[in-house]
Amino acid sequence: MAECPVPPRQLFIGGAWVPPIKGQYMDVINPATEKPFTKIPAGTSEDVDAAVAAATAAFKSGHWSRTTGEYRAKFLRAIAQKIRDDKLVLAKTETMDCGKPIDEAEWDMDDVATCFDYYAGQAEALDARNGPSAPAIDVGMAEFEVRVRREALGVVGLITPWNYPLLMATWKVAPALAAGCCCVLKPSELASLTCLELAAAAEAAGLPPGVLNVVTGTGAEAGAPLSAHPGLAKVAFTGSAATGRRVALAAAGNLRPASLELGGKSCLIVFDDADVEKAVEWAMFGAFWTNGQICSATSRLLVQRGVAPAFLEQLKKRAEAINVCDPLTRGCRLGPLVSEGQYRRVLDYIQSGKSEGAQLLTGGGRPPAPALPPRGGYWVAPTVFTGVQPHMRIWREEIFGPVLSVAVFDSEAEAVQRANDSEYGLAGAVISGCPDRCRRVSEALECGIVWVNCSQPCFCYAPWGGIKNSGHGRELGEWGLENFLSVKQVTKYVSKDTWGWYSPPSQQGEQQEGQGQEGQSP
Ligand code: NAD
Repeated sequence: MAECPVPPRQLFIGGAWVPPIKGQYMDVINPATEKPFTKIPAGTSEDVDAAVAAATAAFKSGHWSRTTGEYRAKFLRAIAQKIRDDKLVLAKTETMDCGKPIDEAEWDMDDVATCFDYYAGQAEALDARNGPSAPAIDVGMAEFEVRVRREALGVVGLITPWNYPLLMATWKVAPALAAGCCCVLKPSELASLTCLELAAAAEAAGLPPGVLNVVTGTGAEAGAPLSAHPGLAKVAFTGSAATGRRVALAAAGNLRPASLELGGKSCLIVFDDADVEKAVEWAMFGAFWTNGQICSATSRLLVQRGVAPAFLEQLKKRAEAINVCDPLTRGCRLGPLVSEGQYRRVLDYIQSGKSEGAQLLTGGGRPPAPALPPRGGYWVAPTVFTGVQPHMRIWREEIFGPVLSVAVFDSEAEAVQRANDSEYGLAGAVISGCPDRCRRVSEALECGIVWVNCSQPCFCYAPWGGIKNSGHGRELGEWGLENFLSVKQVTKYVSKDTWGWYSPPSQQGEQQEGQGQEGQSP
């Protein structure tokens, strides 16, 4: 499939395309060719200030924040339709930007459109939740009618990563817009193109100026000033734990909350009674999908001793048969890593696995695939280490590449203990033919998402997020909307009687007289 032209874009601020104030731009490099093919604006704190000012003016005008959910839903559905109309071009753009196989990129665009449609429905449902027929809270006193209004939180800063460039932005933009918030989105500098196209889709949908602003730029120059901006009501962040800590601290400096979707080192546990063929496929999907660059990747695999030989034999064979090629080719199942930096980081982890004594079952460098160019491109073959010990870096740290670390276990208790022995707590998975065991293990895993007899499926209707160093707060589903709502208590006195704590005016004279008498008669 041929590359597609990418429209030149500026920053999107206040409904207009504006050049960055300092006039700087960054090259966009195709990770399959290592060649720059376009540029994006390198926004700075001055642009962030302008974007927050535009979002604040839009929010205060009430033209978005005080409208009905039904009104906002029309714009969300129009954006969803535009994404569907432009699906192939957007998918290609994303593939050229981050190396994601085209079939996956198209899948992502479907998910983006579904997510906008879903939050259109949530916006409409919000009208009913705020309406007069919504149930009042029973406070145990008939004199009071207590209700809750859910209102848009305000201007929100949204900072997103590069592994699902448009989808991760959508998980924040769609619920924020549904809630009535006005946003400043700062996508990753490594893959911003489709987020700029989202701005174009919003413009085409007629979204009022300032409701969605997109500032591209580096983390240091644009992300840091956004997370520290005093004009925000909240920061919603997805990215690494290290950056998440900085973002949370910056927001805390303004006494503002930050919701954090961070990294992981999730574990897949395969028991002896598993169907080996199915389990191997889920293990590969959990480790190599999106080129292994998934926060929830089940990049640690615990396999029970009895099934381990058959499992590993099949895993090696099938991992080596994965279709590794140009990500714009239909049927590609593993493309290049996003950047040279990420490529070096993953190779460094592979080296550390070898030097710490793990055994390389397969992969470990550039794949021998004949479909790859002779040189160039940041490909790493699907890589599996066995005999991985709990202290090894490849077991403990998030690699964010197609590297699977495998260890063997004997008992269920041992498997659960080893799975939970992690600073992260994003996801976990169990594969077993025994429903009781699956239930026990899913209850025992310390994480926010558990997959049973599978790994990775994600639906915009269900909550997403982690515990421990994987962050806090939940995206998607109704939880994703709550992220951007402020809950206001409205308490109404409905009794016909006076409150009666102080004496009424009609009795005040008597009381004063009485008090006077008391005073006069010691
Ligand atoms: P990253 O932390 O390097 O960058 C994320 C975003 O933060 C980017 O937009 C970046 O420019 C910005 N940023 C960098 N420094 C900043 C600073 N000082 N202040 C404010 N913003 C700053 O992460 P990444 O490499 O883009 O993405 C990979 C990470 O994201 C992995 O750890 C992965 O697990 C995580 N992730 C988590 C989820 C989830 O849902 N939990 C989803 C996708 C990715």
